[in-house]
Parts: sequence; C-alpha cells; structure tokens
Amino acid sequence: MKLVTCRYEDRERVGVITETAQAESGQEVVFLPYPDMNSLIETAAADEKAWEQLESVVHLKGVPLADVKLLAPIPRPRQDVICLGMNYRAHEEEAAKYDAGAFTKERPVAVYFSKRVSRAGDPEGEIPRYEGLVERLDYEVELAVIIGKTAKNVRAEEAGDYVFGYTILNDISARDLQTGHKQWYFGKGLDGFTPMGPCIVTKDKTSPEAAFPPALEISCRVNGEERQRSNTSLLIHSIPRILEELTAGMTLLPGTIIATGTPAGVGMGFDPPRFLKAGDVVECTIEHIGTLRSTVV
Ligand code: MG
Repeated sequence: MKLVTCRYEDRERVGVITETAQAESGQEVVFLPYPDMNSLIETAAADEKAWEQLESVVHLKGVPLADVKLLAPIPRPRQDVICLGMNYRAHEEEAAKYDAGAFTKERPVAVYFSKRVSRAGDPEGEIPRYEGLVERLDYEVELAVIIGKTAKNVRAEEAGDYVFGYTILNDISARDLQTGHKQWYFGKGLDGFTPMGPCIVTKDKTSPEAAFPPALEISCRVNGEERQRSNTSLLIHSIPRILEELTAGMTLLPGTIIATGTPAGVGMGFDPPRFLKAGDVVECTIEHIGTLRSTVV
C-alpha cells in the first residue's frame, strides 16, 4: 500500500493511493479516518483489525491524485530523525577524499547522528539555501525506514516485524557548517533540510517491495543529470543490524524515522565539488516508492 499525507479542500488528510479501473482518471486517493500519519501508524501497531480495515478501503472511490497537494508523509515527526552516516562504501571513500579529518574512512561501527525536523519538506517542495549562512549546499538521497511498533531488544532476524514501511528522504547538508562545526547536527538540521515522500510504501506481504531487507534501486538527479545510483542491498550496516544495535539500548516508538545513509555521487564527491545553487531541481528516486522532487530557492 502507498500511504500519503495531503492537503485537500484546505484540510490535511491521510490517505491511500489506489489505481482506478478507468485509465483516464489514473490514480486516486482514498481518505482514511485518522487525524495524521502518526496516529494511523500507532493504531495499526496496537490493533491488527485496524490494519485489515485499512486494506479493505482500497476498493472505495477516492478523489483524483491530481486534485490533492501531497505533503511529507510524516510532516511533523514526533522525535528527531535517526540518521546513518557513511553507510555505502563508495560514499565513504568520496567523503574522505573531500575532508579526511571530518570523514574518517574504515569505521568498524555504524555512524549515528540526529537530524532535527520541525517540519519535513513536501514532495514538489522547496529547499532553502540560506544565502549568507551556507555556501556548500548538498543533496543525499536515502531510503528511510518507518518503525511500526515499539521496538526494544529486537533481534536482527525479527527486525522485519518492526518495520511499518519505507519512504524517500533527502538528507540536505550544509557541508561548510557540517565540517566547520566538527559536528553534523547544525549543518543537517536547518529548517527545510528534510524533504520527504512522496508516500510511505508499507511492508505488505503481497507487494514486490515486501522483501526484507529491501533491495531497491536508489538514485538522484540534479537538473536531470544523474549524480547518484546504487541499490539499498549495498548498505554497509543493514536494517536488521541497525535495529538490533539501536534497540539494545534505545526504545524506538511507532513512527520513528531512520534514514539509512546515502550512496556515492553527492556534490562534495566531485572534483571540483558541485554544490546546489538557486533554481536547481533535485529528484530522488527509489524503486517502488517514487520520486521526491525539490527545487532550491
Ligand atoms: Mg545522510
């Protein structure tokens, strides 16, 4: 199932995208009776029947997808987004080449950091470039995992049971703030630095994306030019391993978002670097989820 948060008739709604039989009307959105996505995830976590009801609405008549404005699927995360740094080998190498002091290679353990997100950026939204504060604005396409039920002391082999679904996250980074402050929190946590969407693909048993851990093509284009391409099967620290490690000491609540790291090809990886400028269009694509498109302003 593809779940969305959207604005329709001036109200924020949660819905599921359905394919209609009539080709001319294309995809539709069937609205669901939840105030927001976090409530939906929590209800589904607590009550299996609620999940079955959710699946039953896909046959109902909805409104055309073109008539709604898509918002980030979880516009206001309840907690920080948990992020992994250096989780694809080739990206680890390009980062070390850019700044060996800030991005040490060959780490035996996962790099975790936190991204502050008061409001996640919408699909087809804007990335603010903060002229005067930021000179080295960069993109990072990432697979984000959404936790579906309270997770504590999870074993790697049961990690799949705790995953609600997946979305695309662009981990926008101000490289000058990130390296200058010797700590990533500020450089990655500015307002508007977390575009997310366009939907959450749930971890259904019936869909092709249900394989766990997911092996999905992941790519990023800037102004139509491909910059990043990889596959989520190439994560250094896999989703089961991440969940096992984090939940050994940290309770992950339903709705928690984990950004699993970016592949090679970010702006700082080029020589000379190719940072974002006003008017650039960044398109992050992951197989079976869709494309998250943002414009730098
Ligand atoms: Mg990242």
